[in-house]
Amino acid sequence: MPNEKKSKGDLLREQLFRAQKHASEILSKKGLAQADAFCEGYKDFLNTCKTERECSSYFRRKAEARGFVLFEEGKRYLPGEKIYVDNRGKALLLAVIGRQSLEAGTRMTAAHIDSPRLDLKPAPLYEEKALTLLKTHYYGGIKKYQWTAIPLALHGVIVKKDGTAIEVALGEAPGDPKLCVTDLLPHLAAEQGKRELAKGITGEELNIIIGSRPLVLDGKPEGFKLHILQLLHERYGVTEDDLISAELEAVPAFAACDIGLDRSMVGAYGHDDRVCAYPCAEAILDCTSPEFTAVCVLADKEEIGSCGNTGLNGSFLGDFIAELAAAQGANPRKVLRNTKCLSADVNAAFDPTFPSVMDSLNAAYLNFGVVLTKYTGSRGKAGSSDASAEFMAWVRALLDENDVLWQPGELGKVDEGGGGTVAAYLAKLNLDVVDLGVPILSMHAPFELAAKTDIWMLLKTAKALYQ
Ligand code: MN
Ligand code: MN
Repeated sequence: MPNEKKSKGDLLREQLFRAQKHASEILSKKGLAQADAFCEGYKDFLNTCKTERECSSYFRRKAEARGFVLFEEGKRYLPGEKIYVDNRGKALLLAVIGRQSLEAGTRMTAAHIDSPRLDLKPAPLYEEKALTLLKTHYYGGIKKYQWTAIPLALHGVIVKKDGTAIEVALGEAPGDPKLCVTDLLPHLAAEQGKRELAKGITGEELNIIIGSRPLVLDGKPEGFKLHILQLLHERYGVTEDDLISAELEAVPAFAACDIGLDRSMVGAYGHDDRVCAYPCAEAILDCTSPEFTAVCVLADKEEIGSCGNTGLNGSFLGDFIAELAAAQGANPRKVLRNTKCLSADVNAAFDPTFPSVMDSLNAAYLNFGVVLTKYTGSRGKAGSSDASAEFMAWVRALLDENDVLWQPGELGKVDEGGGGTVAAYLAKLNLDVVDLGVPILSMHAPFELAAKTDIWMLLKTAKALYQ
């Protein structure tokens, strides 16, 4: 429209208002097709990787194929060299050495590869009233009632005393049997219906059915639990004792798929936070000769507070920076101080069915790009790292200069609830960090939704940060 047709008010609005655009206004048909195509790879990844171990080994294999080599302490690396650190098979660091001195800082993304699920207890197996069941202890923040009456698969590892690790992925291959947690029929749920929602199903009611036929020897029934142990022994060579040294995680057995007649969204288990881990890892796998050393952190244990030696409240990232700095003749504290990091994690998208928990001005929306979250926390930002205005400005410039569609966001209304990410633990290392990720619907449910264009925008963000 020629300028003379615009009113003074229009011009002023254009000058002063923030213009938040929908991805369909930014992306051409070709751009949308690129976003969709990228998400085909993402769906395949989701279907093969449902646990932190599976994600870690997936990216390790992919990195090795792209020329990344295991980091050797004491070795001096040249610009463009690609290295990785595998932390106990559950967390992974990928790095590409930059042209600038390491002391100029790194450009880092950090996502987590663990997701909420039902872990088996150390002594899980029991029989009762002609059924065989498994006791679970849920991992991460879940609405327990959502985990009943859906098909579950059992993933993880059983480690025998001699150190042999047996990988388990029960219920994934076509035709493989699946597992299930039961729920009460509505006809008999009058009392259950009076429970408050959070207690609709309790933790101790999340018992998984794994069998209903006894072992029969010489025509004589010998027990239900014995039958399952015999089948586990046949399949994995393990005994009941071995289940004590195991990490077995019950996860939804259904596959990722397109959602919506327009195929604009991906529905899947574990978007949080693989929807950020995947684009960030793909970006560093493609990264060659960056100006600043590029680092991609894929961490475990975020969903239970980043604790443990594979979580970011542990020391593995700081140790790696220290060891890398030592070999490059750099001061590790200076490396960290100059590091700019995006804590790539999901945030809640506005759900029109549940508008009351959101401040619509400060909520993220599907298809409006990656969400930049200055702070998380609860009860007055407690537990948050609260990024500085200076770093927010730096990130805004990065996004705008690289045509990334983005939006500011907060996790719900003030005092509505809250949450945290790895950002607070990264900030402890004295680097600059802010949360930036993909907005999703039904977070922490067995089936979460994300928009394809937002996933694509995170790939663009990570590529821009690294190159
Ligand atoms: Mn997360
Ligand atoms: Mn989460």
